[in-house]
Amino acid sequence: MILMNDFKAEPKDLRALMLAAAQQVLESGWYVLGQEVQQFEREWAQVCGVAHAVGVGNGMDAIEIALRTIDIEPGDEVITTSMTAFATVLAIYRAGAIPVLADIVDETALLSLESVERCLTEKTKAVVLVHLYGQLRNLNLWQQFCNKHGILLIEDCAQAHLAQSDGRFAGSFGVAGAYSFYPTKNLGAPGDAGALITNDAEMAARANRLRNYGQSVRYHHPELGLNSRLDEIQAAILSVRLKWLDAFTQRRQAIAKAYRHNINNSEVILLEEPESEDAHVYHLFVIRCAKRAALQQHLEKAGVQTLIHYPVPVHHQTPCLATRRDPQGLPRSEAHAATCLSLPCHPQMSDEDVQTVIDAVNSFQMN
Ligand SMILES: *Cc1c(COP(=O)(O)O)cnc(C)c1O
Repeated sequence: MILMNDFKAEPKDLRALMLAAAQQVLESGWYVLGQEVQQFEREWAQVCGVAHAVGVGNGMDAIEIALRTIDIEPGDEVITTSMTAFATVLAIYRAGAIPVLADIVDETALLSLESVERCLTEKTKAVVLVHLYGQLRNLNLWQQFCNKHGILLIEDCAQAHLAQSDGRFAGSFGVAGAYSFYPTKNLGAPGDAGALITNDAEMAARANRLRNYGQSVRYHHPELGLNSRLDEIQAAILSVRLKWLDAFTQRRQAIAKAYRHNINNSEVILLEEPESEDAHVYHLFVIRCAKRAALQQHLEKAGVQTLIHYPVPVHHQTPCLATRRDPQGLPRSEAHAATCLSLPCHPQMSDEDVQTVIDAVNSFQMN
């Protein structure tokens, strides 16, 4: 079976260095928020080309903490997409803001500017822009739009490690970028981990406090924070895995290129080409098919695992049935949820695996 992710197939030397890093932490006797976290924060900030990174417990907390640093007041609204991981919207709720769901663009499944425009009110405080599947697109437009309307741009970069536009990295366009290092992400830890990045020293200092009960110096709590600290073991292993991230990203992009050139089936629609080669890091390679269930079954029989990102748009989730949204509805998110399918696209795939996936997709026929 060609799997969506295959950690056990990772390079042996990577596995050995991860074990050595874990052992070093165990022997150090320091397990939470220490030197390994500080080192990884420095490395990640440098990779992203920003001044500060703050390690936190997971990607959802990174979004919540980013929102908490911008002083959400009761009634403040934050606009985001309905076609995202549930965590994006849950983080907005947890930060005390009111989420407002906007629709997507058909060709990319990314947030639609026109839809966001329809969602604007006097109470709009920020937009959480999700770089879905690993795509960076129209960042200049989003910056201009937010500036024009006096609202803040926060980036959900959980799927977009190393994605670039005009030489700048995901998370460096808005006031803050939120990263997840959940195991399946392009840079993943063997457990939960996340980080917030920013160029704003004040915001970084605030995030530093918020992740640790709102504590400034030991036993002094000038505000109410949360417990979202990063473990030393996760940080040490992330520093190791970071050394492989460039090569792993290039492999994902090469697989995507092969899919783009060779998938040819009138039943299957590809998403739009990225703005440039490095503007898409292919966390997921997503296609659309009106007969998705049949295609998924056909692929399964051919030994190809697939997943759906996401089968249920956020506004159809039980706690969100009454969540505010685009007055014109969210028909494109609904259509995408009904037809999208993610093909395996991970760095451990061989050229043979890639060809197997292509042949399997191309041999799909409805009869
Ligand atoms: C994974 C993910 C998150 C949440 O990250 P966790 O580390 O699982 O909390 C948020 N947004 C998007 C788009 C994601 O893919």
